[in-house]
Amino acid sequence: MNRIYLDNAATTPMSSEVLNEMMPYFTSAYGNSSSLHGFGREARAALDVARDRIAKGIGCDADEIYFTSGATESNNWAIYGIAYANRNKGSHIITSKIEHPSILKICQKLENEGFRVTYLDVDRQGFVRIDQLLHYIDADTILISIMAANNEVGTIQNLQAIANIAKEKGIIFHTDATQAIGAINLNVHEMGIDSLSMSAHKINGPKGIGALYVRKNVPIVPFVLGGEQESNMRAGTVNVPGIVGFGKAVEIATRDIITNSKKMRQLRDYFINEVQKNIDMVYLNGHPIQRLPNNVSLSFAMVEGESILMLLDSVGIAVSTGSACSSGALEHSHVLRAMQLPLDLAQGTVRFSLGKSTTKADLDYTVAELVKIVAKLRQMSPISRAQVGKMTGGDPKCTVKK
Ligand SMILES: *Cc1c(COP(=O)(O)O)cnc(C)c1O
Repeated sequence: MNRIYLDNAATTPMSSEVLNEMMPYFTSAYGNSSSLHGFGREARAALDVARDRIAKGIGCDADEIYFTSGATESNNWAIYGIAYANRNKGSHIITSKIEHPSILKICQKLENEGFRVTYLDVDRQGFVRIDQLLHYIDADTILISIMAANNEVGTIQNLQAIANIAKEKGIIFHTDATQAIGAINLNVHEMGIDSLSMSAHKINGPKGIGALYVRKNVPIVPFVLGGEQESNMRAGTVNVPGIVGFGKAVEIATRDIITNSKKMRQLRDYFINEVQKNIDMVYLNGHPIQRLPNNVSLSFAMVEGESILMLLDSVGIAVSTGSACSSGALEHSHVLRAMQLPLDLAQGTVRFSLGKSTTKADLDYTVAELVKIVAKLRQMSPISRAQVGKMTGGDPKCTVKK
């Protein structure tokens, strides 16, 4: 069966250029970068090259990059590390309701430890409410953390405006840029971003490696304790092959950003158009233009996103749902909830995320299969039909069409 992968927001295939760059560091150049001998120096030199490439990719200095196990760790560390290092100045943190769980859960932990956290609302298109940000900043606020682009619905935040506010008020600004790298141009020094998380596997690099950028004068305490690696800031033998691959992946992603995002944007809009032309009652989530070039989040009225996912999978097409199913209870996505999407539409949400190798033919095949699947599910499912009015209090857009 021909397999089509439209789940690139979850992870991406590693490019062969990246793999080739990594190979020697698994086989011949296997030294520990902390060792003083030739093997160690060889590994260290590779780290320096990768660090330079990543720094160049986001517009910072090499010694402001710390390698981690991925964006989850980077986000945990940034929030925890900046909060504790600045506790003498205040205990208030501002973030948003649509952040990745690796931000939300560490914020909840800090709330239990005596910090105060404000979770900003977003509007219907997923933009963080700047008016609320201005409203909630007070003398106690030490950190603002807002993601650059949302992984579920693709909305790209007005990052510069948020960075400007943080700077003006003298508050440290962290951003989770995991989905934004390679999609939008980011220059942390120029934009006034103090801290930024990224991950290799979302940009055709290896899994289990990421970085945290922290501006030189920003106080942060270490998160992983042990040896003296990463300037005493992140202990543990460093993942040399991973870092080498990460460096190459960032170099490629930033080098090809214009051509890649243009191509993906065209395919994205073609796909949205084709789906809406061929299927009734399908709604795009997030902003139609200020969105990730590869993200298509669609809500299908009167069907379950999970059912679409399963049936697409059975014909070789991999997608993701907007709603996470936890412990048996159908719980709907915190992002869609924050955007005030009616529950039934949230449950009918599917995320298609395009990749570098996605073709128009892949999308045509996907549309053709979707048409059949959605028709079949809508016909089969009188229950979801009956629930439409009940669960939303009657959304006029969701009237059943014969
Ligand atoms: C994938 C993702 C993460 C987590 O990254 P890992 O490297 O897999 O830990 C964090 N934030 C966003 C926005 C993501 O898309």
